[in-house]
Amino acid sequence: MVLLCVLGSGRFSLAAASLTRAARAVHDTRRVSPRPLLPAGVASQSSVLNNGRRTAFRPPVGPGAASPPRPGPVLRGQPGRRFHTSAPARALPAPLVWLLLKPLQKLAAMILGRSIRKWWVALPVDRRQLLREWVRRRRWRLAAGSGVAMVIAALLLLTHLDESPVTGRTRLLVFSREKYMELAALTSEAYMEEFAELLVAVTDPRHQVVERLVQHLAQRNQDIPEVSEVTWSVHVVQSPNVNAFVLPNGKVFIFTGMLEAVADVHQLTFVLGHEMAHAVLGHSAEQASLSHVVDLLSLVLLTAIWAACPRDSLALLGQWVQDKLSQLMFSRPFSRKLENEADLVGLQLAAKACADVRAGPVFWQQMEIRDQLTGDPTFPEWLSTHPSHKNRFTQLDRVMPQVHAHTHTRSSNCRSFLFLFITTVT
Ligand SMILES: [Zn+2]
Repeated sequence: MVLLCVLGSGRFSLAAASLTRAARAVHDTRRVSPRPLLPAGVASQSSVLNNGRRTAFRPPVGPGAASPPRPGPVLRGQPGRRFHTSAPARALPAPLVWLLLKPLQKLAAMILGRSIRKWWVALPVDRRQLLREWVRRRRWRLAAGSGVAMVIAALLLLTHLDESPVTGRTRLLVFSREKYMELAALTSEAYMEEFAELLVAVTDPRHQVVERLVQHLAQRNQDIPEVSEVTWSVHVVQSPNVNAFVLPNGKVFIFTGMLEAVADVHQLTFVLGHEMAHAVLGHSAEQASLSHVVDLLSLVLLTAIWAACPRDSLALLGQWVQDKLSQLMFSRPFSRKLENEADLVGLQLAAKACADVRAGPVFWQQMEIRDQLTGDPTFPEWLSTHPSHKNRFTQLDRVMPQVHAHTHTRSSNCRSFLFLFITTVT
């Protein structure tokens, strides 16, 4: 299977990219494939992209997805008159609506483009010439109109700029973090159902260690509102997959394969810090926002492709090329950027939680060696949704002096760090 979030690098397959974030396969007779979420959806940066491929979101729609409207209180007024109020029907989260409408928008663009082409071909030659002349005479007006439309679009985007927590980075947020919380609630239900038979008991030492580490990370980072406002919970999934991911609502999913891959509690703290960083930074909403804008622009391009290509087969080829270029130029580089940011912020979270920050780069070094030993094929980073292990190691190693200088490991508050987990396991 794949290490969706933490280990993304290596392999690339042209087969998929939105919410479940690249990785490595581990032979598993009980293959567990994390349910695709949002762009990356609701899951963390990695839970959205699977092996660099965007997987389809399977929202829990249908009966039971949303509670049916319940009759509201009946107010008794004058005899013979009753006032009924109904509980407000629960609307689907905006990101989910967008995900559901996405294929329809694409289909509409294809039909529109194809219709324009058919209409143009059916026009008499003299009418085509007249239309060309009409466009030529008004070319400056048309250019001015396009310019105004682009300025309006740019202004609309500017009104959706937001400041990333912790890093202060300016970013585009079309979907708010709150909206993604709603979607996360639906997604976590779907995951719980999918992993129901594989969840490790809460009394299991493995669950207890992860639970205490996550709560310890949360407790030591209470100064960050996005940490203190979330109820963090842990779900350990029995699977050899070297993977972990977190949902925006603080539900951390980690596979037992990951627990076996980390060398010690410090590395595990770093891995969990990385996952929590995705949620704290709202990477799911940010990635979905960029995807939303790129998709809207793609609709214009898609219409033009289907209008300009003389045959449907050529239009399909053009659409495929446009889709791949969009992934390589926007989706994957942006996903790698968010992974790098989660590495850095996760390291900070782990440092404040008393972990030895040197475990961060060492972890990625181990993953690099592991790849070499297993002989798994690797692909260039530019094809992947995740940075290469080597680059992740290099980045963390570069910031190590600054982070280590501020680490709390040697403070009196941290002396019981290891003891805490030793006593948990025994
Ligand atoms: Zn990640």
